[in-house]
Amino acid sequence: MALELLRTSLQARAWREAATGRVGVVPTMGYLHAGHQRLISCARERVGESGQVIVTVFVNPAQFDRREDLEAYPRDEARDCAAAEAAGADAVFIPRAPTELYPAGAETWVEVKRLDARLCGATRPGHFRGVCTVLSKFWGLLRPDVSVYGEKDYQQLAIVRRLHRDLFLSGEVVGVPTVREADGLALSSRNARLTTPGRRAAVAVPRYLAAVRARFDRGVRDRSGLLGAFEAALAPGRPDYVDLVDADSLDAVDHVARPAVCALAVFFDGVRLIDNVVLDPAAS
Ligand code: AMP
Repeated sequence: MALELLRTSLQARAWREAATGRVGVVPTMGYLHAGHQRLISCARERVGESGQVIVTVFVNPAQFDRREDLEAYPRDEARDCAAAEAAGADAVFIPRAPTELYPAGAETWVEVKRLDARLCGATRPGHFRGVCTVLSKFWGLLRPDVSVYGEKDYQQLAIVRRLHRDLFLSGEVVGVPTVREADGLALSSRNARLTTPGRRAAVAVPRYLAAVRARFDRGVRDRSGLLGAFEAALAPGRPDYVDLVDADSLDAVDHVARPAVCALAVFFDGVRLIDNVVLDPAAS
């Protein structure tokens, strides 16, 4: 069956009502790459051949704290439809305007407390409130049996799991390991905005995270020993934050005695890239 393109919230709801079998949802901001496609194939596997997979493509204004970032976010709907279909999607929901999701008179905002205190939540105020609100709208329209997210956005996945649990939502939340370029750089729609020297320099991110992991594997457990001289290691990138947090609570960690995450956001050429590595003492 050909890919269905839905443009309005009413169409999205009607699609869900007509769907037979399990429904898988993959929320994205578009400019799809092989990381998104991995999420789509995972959704396909989870719902089976009798199920339906829908990809949402929406650059959600409510989650952007910087207008330049929102405006510069790359978009290509035709390419996104082809990439979604090739990965096994049955439908794509690309709202024709933000008012499809935020019509006049919409007054509801969804917030998960505490888990947003550090990392991206601290440096991008309001970001996760925007994410949680738009996801709640998608979940209301599409009622997923399974929804799929990337582990690259570690804090987002933790917040999504908590939101899902706190609202007693049915269905399953699935996390997928980060898909990377050959040199280790995490795939991201934002990579398209890097200059050639910026792209070359961005390899500092996976190299730095590999060095943190190597220190952890050698038995280093304290915060400063693990994080090391990160500014020098990430140069010429400009760190927005580099942090070591508990893998569940996302609270700061001084000494790793249970699973922790080293997470970071770094600007290269004004493009903000995020990545992380999970450090589990039981697995090391
Ligand atoms: P975005 O379009 O950047 O909002 O991402 C949409 C979804 O794709 C989120 O759940 C991301 O975590 C996930 N994602 C983005 N990049 C990757 C990647 N390199 N590997 C796996 N998942 C990813």
